[in-house]
Amino acid sequence: MMLGFLLARAGVPVTVLEKHADFLRDFRGDTVHPSTLEMMYELGLLDEFLKLPHTAVRQVAIQIGQDRVVIGHFDHLPVHCKFIALMPQWDFLNFIAEHAKRYQTFDLRMRAEATGLIEENGRIAGVRATTSDGELEVRADLTVGCDGRHSIVRAKAGLESDDFGAPMDVMWFRLPRKPDDSEETVGHIEGGRMIVMLNRVDYWQCAYVIPKGTAEEVKRAGLEKFREAVGEMSPFTRDRLNEIDHWDKVKLLTVAVDRLRRWYRVGLLCIGDAAHAMSPIGGVGINLAVQDAVAAANILAEPLRRGTVTVDTLESVQRRREFPTRFTQRMQIVLQNNIISPALRGRRPNAPLLMKMMQWPLLRRIPGRVVALGIRPEHIRTPEVASASTATA
Ligand SMILES: Cc1cc2nc3c(=O)[nH]c(=O)nc-3n(C[C@H](O)[C@H](O)[C@H](O)COP(=O)(O)OP(=O)(O)OC[C@H]3O[C@@H](n4cnc5c(N)ncnc54)[C@H](O)[C@@H]3O)c2cc1C
Repeated sequence: MMLGFLLARAGVPVTVLEKHADFLRDFRGDTVHPSTLEMMYELGLLDEFLKLPHTAVRQVAIQIGQDRVVIGHFDHLPVHCKFIALMPQWDFLNFIAEHAKRYQTFDLRMRAEATGLIEENGRIAGVRATTSDGELEVRADLTVGCDGRHSIVRAKAGLESDDFGAPMDVMWFRLPRKPDDSEETVGHIEGGRMIVMLNRVDYWQCAYVIPKGTAEEVKRAGLEKFREAVGEMSPFTRDRLNEIDHWDKVKLLTVAVDRLRRWYRVGLLCIGDAAHAMSPIGGVGINLAVQDAVAAANILAEPLRRGTVTVDTLESVQRRREFPTRFTQRMQIVLQNNIISPALRGRRPNAPLLMKMMQWPLLRRIPGRVVALGIRPEHIRTPEVASASTATA
């Protein structure tokens, strides 16, 4: 959506296909980081964006056994918003879509599911899609796979990926939040279990982390056991655990961490999770996908307008984004292996020494900066070339 918006704004005709009828899916990542908020500022949209309902998270802490470590201090960041905005991803996507629709060069087709690629003489020339009106062929100078972790585009293109594995899956659910509850986003790792609770004003969005592939086992043990476990990890929620009265209220999300070796082919590029599925650690996935989109727009807008995109142009997108992606995934894997895996195996976890050192005043800025801004943050370089109508479609 972000890439479509930026390209349309730069005068490039774009068609975005989305297989669902809307963006209303609960428990999509909702963490809009300072790097993404800064993009909104650069686009002149920040004030309007912040009118959407959100919670501002100014500090992120996690309890590892006996140690409470703060992993995100954002007050020193050189950006306009020194906080993470927790905002439903559908609000974020609708906002971008509404702004994109102001350009005649932008065409969003909902309920259009890409099912295959059109290949001509070794070049990807577009996609085939199924829509509510029947089959559709969209021909394009460039096809971008941004269809997430289970990307059909990357599978059909035959692009090879490296799978780095993940020791956990996540069970998501909501619990009501009461006025005298803590304000803080809370994480707790203890004796074989882990929970993260995001403050969503009137409810807690809870992620209960389980060893990979054990969801059925957890379910077989029964809801009562599940509620008990949650209560032991977060005793203040005991008075409302009866809200979880059916497994329908608990959604399983399987975690994957992988990365394509080559993100492109002639006529095709993958970005976001389609190029590199991210672990939920740090809540960076959406923000990395947005950074990919901005970098891709910066590099591609002019060549697309001139019709001069080559494999070298596509390679420069990968070159620009591969290092930040590798670095972030490496960090996620280190945390998975050193904190989450041992904790899920029931070993009494301790905060690693490096994490404890990061609490020192001089060092504590580093993790906050890495989480909030990422490595090599992108900036909007594409001009507004197409004229926008003032009324949104
Ligand atoms: C358990 C879990 C929790 C996470 N929590 C967070 C978090 O809190 N914060 C965070 O930043 N990241 C989080 N992530 C990662 C984050 O969800 C992704 O990194 C991010 O959404 C990637 O964005 P994307 O645009 O590449 O893909 P997606 O957000 O997956 O978007 C892909 C879109 O393509 C559509 N689509 C799929 N297939 C087709 C098709 N064939 N045709 C047409 N449309 C199609 C989908 O409907 C979807 O709208 C989490 C991941 C997991 C697994």
